[in-house]
Amino acid sequence: MELAELTALMETLGEKPYRARQVFEALYKQRVHSVEDMTTLAQALRSRLVSEGFCVALPEMVQTAVSVDGTERYLMRMADGETVETVWMPDGDGGERGDGSEAADEEAGESDDILAATDKQQVLPLRQAQGQDDKSFWGRRGNGRARSNFGTLAEKGFRRATICISSQVGCAVNCQFCLTAKLGIRRNLTAGEIAGQVAAVLNRHKIQIGKDRINLVFMGMGEPFLNYENFMKSVRLLVEGVGIPESRMTVSTSGILPGILAFASERLRPKLALSLNASNDEVRERIMPITRKWKIAELLEAVLKIPLRAREWVTFEYVLLGGVNDRPDHAREVLQLLRGVRAKMNLIVWNPGPGIDYVQPTPEDVAVFQKMLIEGGIATYIRRPRGRDIYAACGQLKRTVADETLVAIGQAAI
Ligand code: SAH
Ligand code: SF4
Repeated sequence: MELAELTALMETLGEKPYRARQVFEALYKQRVHSVEDMTTLAQALRSRLVSEGFCVALPEMVQTAVSVDGTERYLMRMADGETVETVWMPDGDGGERGDGSEAADEEAGESDDILAATDKQQVLPLRQAQGQDDKSFWGRRGNGRARSNFGTLAEKGFRRATICISSQVGCAVNCQFCLTAKLGIRRNLTAGEIAGQVAAVLNRHKIQIGKDRINLVFMGMGEPFLNYENFMKSVRLLVEGVGIPESRMTVSTSGILPGILAFASERLRPKLALSLNASNDEVRERIMPITRKWKIAELLEAVLKIPLRAREWVTFEYVLLGGVNDRPDHAREVLQLLRGVRAKMNLIVWNPGPGIDYVQPTPEDVAVFQKMLIEGGIATYIRRPRGRDIYAACGQLKRTVADETLVAIGQAAI
C-alpha cells in the first residue's frame, strides 16, 4: 500500500492519520517482516490489524545460489507458493558498466564527469574536487551524500550493488532466445511482491539506504510493461517508501508500445532500456515474435516521446546471437535506425540455456560489432555476464529448484 492508501485505511479504523506514516515507515524504511515487528504501533492496533486480516510479509528466500563472481541468485516464494528469481550483483571494481544500470555507467565515467563539469567552471583535479562541499561537485550526482558516509557495502569493499528484480511469474512474450519464455506466463506480481523482493535482498545484506549505493534493474523474469500498473506502483513504493532514487532504476521492455507511451508521460519514472535485439523487423520477428504486433519504427517513435532528463540516455539492449544478428551489415542497420536518438547500447553476448537452439557469437564478431557502433557515434558497452555459472545471467532465470550449486540460506551473505 502507498501512503494515501494507508491513510485511508487508518481513517476507516478510526485511527489518527500519523499512524499511516508510522506503518509506511515500518513497511518500507524498517522493512519489517510481520505486523508484530511494527513496534512503533500500539499493541492494541497491531492486534486489531491482525484480527482484521491484514498481513505484513516479505517474499521468502527459499534458495540461494552463489556465483564465483559474487552474484547471488535467489528463489523467492510468494504467499501463494509461486516463485520468481531475484539477483544480487555486488561490485567493487568501479569499472563495470555491464550490470544494466545507467548509474553504473555514470560512476565508471568519472573522468567524463570532470569534462562535463567544464560547463560550470568547476574543472578541478579529482582529489581537490573530492574535498569540496558536497553541493558543488558530488552533489551533482543526485543525492548529495558525503563520500565519507560509509555504509555496509563500503565496509565490505564494494562501491555499490545492483538488484535485478522480476515483475511477473514467467513471461508471455516468447522471445526465442530466453529461458524465462519457456515458462509461459503464470501470473502478474503485485506491487508489494515486486518491491518486496528488493526489501528482502536489502535485509539479507543489511543495506543502509542513504549510505549504501543501490541500483535497481527491472530486468528479471517477466515483461514489466505487461504488468504496468503494478510495476509503476512498485516504483513509487521503492522511491517514496524505501528511498531509492528513480535515477538509479532502469526498466527493460521487449517493446510493448502502449506501455512505452504511458511511460513517456509518467511524473516519476526509472530510466528506459529497450530490447532492440535486431536491426530490422524481419530478423526481429524471427527471434521476438512480438515484432508482428509492433514494428521497430513504431517503438522508436514512442521512445522519442519520452522527455529525457539531464544526463539521461535511452539504453538499447542487443543480445548477440551467432550468425543471426551479429554481422557487420546488422551493425550498419542499427546505426541507421538510431540516428537522432539519444541512445547508448548494451551488447549482451547470448547466454545459452537448455533447449534453446542458438550459438554464441565469436569474440571477434562481438568486438567488430562494438567497434562499428562506437565509430558510428553510439556509446556501446558489452555487458559483462554476471553469475553465468549459477544460471543468474540475462535470460537464464527460470525458477530453478534442483541445482547442486545451491547453498543453504544464511551461508552466503557478503
Ligand atoms: N522482459 C524484459 C526484461 C527482462 S529480459 C525485456 O525483455 O526487455 C532482460 C534482457 O535480457 C533483455 O534485453 C533480453 O533481450 C535479454 N535476454 C533474454 N534472454 C537472454 C539470453 N539467453 N542471453 C542474453 N540476454 C538475454
Ligand atoms: Fe519475456 Fe524479456 Fe524473456 Fe522476452 S526476453 S521472453 S520479454 S523476459
